[in-house]
Amino acid sequence: MPDRFDQHAVRHRMKLLRSDGDVTLYANRDDVPCPACGEAFGRILLTERREHSFDLADADRLCVAREPDRLVVCTHD
Ligand SMILES: [Zn+2]
Repeated sequence: MPDRFDQHAVRHRMKLLRSDGDVTLYANRDDVPCPACGEAFGRILLTERREHSFDLADADRLCVAREPDRLVVCTHD
């Protein structure tokens, strides 16, 4: 696994759902692997904020990858 999730390398395999400057949310369209568990995630959130709250109603698993300046959160459904 690389040290950092490279969303640009797999950009064409994901659908952009939300982009608020320091928070970006994508949906998986092509079995892009989760940086934490290696299985295809459902959605991935990239946030540079210090805090974030999640609604997990439709997620079976939540994976987190900590990067120096960013938090990567994947949901599996
Ligand atoms: Zn995962």
